[in-house]
Amino acid sequence: MIEIDPDRCVGCGRCTQVCPTGAIRLSNAPDLQARLDRLKGAIENLKFRLDQLQKRM
Ligand code: SF4
Repeated sequence: MIEIDPDRCVGCGRCTQVCPTGAIRLSNAPDLQARLDRLKGAIENLKFRLDQLQKRM
């Protein structure tokens, strides 16, 4: 069976769109705003790291 990692799922629902038999549905979507905030933080972190790498070159 399918197991969802709640720390990684952002509740986008794409898995429900690609299942060929329609067997997947979102029953309790995660707190989307909290997920978006975490993704924004991760993106900012990546930008910072990229900037640091570029400064070393
Ligand atoms: S809802 Fe989106 S992030 Fe969550 S398991 Fe499905 S495709 Fe992955």
